[in-house]
Amino acid sequence: MSSLTSLTAARLAALIRTGEVSSEEVTRAHLDQIAAVDDRVHAFLHVDTDRALEVARRVDAKRRAGAPLGPLAGVPVAVKDLFAYVGAPTTCGSRMLENWCPPYNAAVTERVLAADMVILGKTNLDEFAMGSSTETSAFGPTHNPWDLARVPGGSGGGSAAALAALEAPVALGSDTGGSIRQPAAVTGTVGIKPTYGGVSRYGAVAMASSLDQPGPCARTVLDAALLHQVIGGYDPRDATSIDAPVPDVVAAAQSPDVAGMKIGVVKEFGGEGFEPGVERRFHEAVAALAGAGAEIVEVSCPYFPLALGAYYLIMPSEVSSNMARFDAMRYGRRVGDDGTRSVEDVMRASRGAGFGAEVKRRIILGTYALSSGYYDAYYGSAQKVRTLIIQDFRAAFSTVDVLMSPSTPTTAIRIGEPLTDLMAGYKADLCTIPSNLAGIPAGSFPAGLSDNGLPVGVQVMAPVLADDRVYRVGSALEALLEPRFAPLTKEAR
Ligand code: GLN
Repeated sequence: MSSLTSLTAARLAALIRTGEVSSEEVTRAHLDQIAAVDDRVHAFLHVDTDRALEVARRVDAKRRAGAPLGPLAGVPVAVKDLFAYVGAPTTCGSRMLENWCPPYNAAVTERVLAADMVILGKTNLDEFAMGSSTETSAFGPTHNPWDLARVPGGSGGGSAAALAALEAPVALGSDTGGSIRQPAAVTGTVGIKPTYGGVSRYGAVAMASSLDQPGPCARTVLDAALLHQVIGGYDPRDATSIDAPVPDVVAAAQSPDVAGMKIGVVKEFGGEGFEPGVERRFHEAVAALAGAGAEIVEVSCPYFPLALGAYYLIMPSEVSSNMARFDAMRYGRRVGDDGTRSVEDVMRASRGAGFGAEVKRRIILGTYALSSGYYDAYYGSAQKVRTLIIQDFRAAFSTVDVLMSPSTPTTAIRIGEPLTDLMAGYKADLCTIPSNLAGIPAGSFPAGLSDNGLPVGVQVMAPVLADDRVYRVGSALEALLEPRFAPLTKEAR
């Protein structure tokens, strides 16, 4: 048997269920791997060692007693540090929430615990999920396991790097403009943004509420689907939660059949700004699907090139409103409260000290875009573009079953680059943002390596609540491309 840390979550769950290995052994193996490599990778902000082992032992006892176990029982999971988990810090990568421990669990935290999964710890992210490189974290960047001098993407670079470095078999992420898919692409892993409302946002610290969507991160399509099944479904505590059954993503992830499927290739995502190695891998992936019987058509989505601009008005507008809650009065960092200063002064000093440059930039941008006199010109226009993008998708999905594009224009960039060239970071989400604006499901799947030896991801997008199509095409890609690029050996599956 390969070492426990290289096995898939599905395989680990099967071994635990039959008693061939214990959850405690599996958990220990991952904690050992974290201890061995995380000083170099820095995927974790907090490792919850004692509680992880305690939970694992409880699951083992449950199995021995013959109690029924869920499909991922006993399997470790890493949690992006913006999901509340009682008893552990939830920092959002910010000094503002340094050492803050939430008094309640996020819905996704509750659900993985209820499924008898073992939370290993909290993973690094760009501050309040604002960034594409994990470098805006107040606690230092995460390094891409493929090349430690490069970023693992962001904001969920910690979760993606933890998977690529075999520190966790599956992880939780959240995607506002690409933060699950873009890190997946540049670390050679799988990341799915479900339909907006498909996974509850309750207890996920908000960035831009009309765009934020929690979702699964994994090394295989089936593992992502199994975790999706655990965390998905209606939650009355999230006002935008969809009251409908979770699409059968697990069955889809085991049906790598695209014969007769109509796949649209987005015409606007290619050419200038796209790394040639990324484009080559993308076209090979599409050709492989054609070889498997899919019908490929080029589809024009004329408003997609405007999505990035609209996003950088809508997102900061919502950020400026969501960040207002960090007033240093109720929880979080408080600075300069010496008994002589006014509330406003203390708030100003606390927010000044607590937030990093990127968060402040977005608060200012959003406040400006929403200010009276500019509201219609900026926020209003951006919302109109959002509608046009939704219409582009509607038109496309009237003729094709799914749309595809590269997940990102380039492979992982060097640490330091996004901080000196802001646009380099912003552009990393060019291809992922339209689906957030439209609320549709989309996933990134490994498609091989670019000429520089770094992973390339391809994106599959589907209509609202057709998340299963994303998984079906993803599993076909995994099967077709495996000979050329296998993040895991066959034996590990
Ligand atoms: N990178 C994008 C941004 O900086 C998306 C972030 C996210 O999805 N949380 O806004």
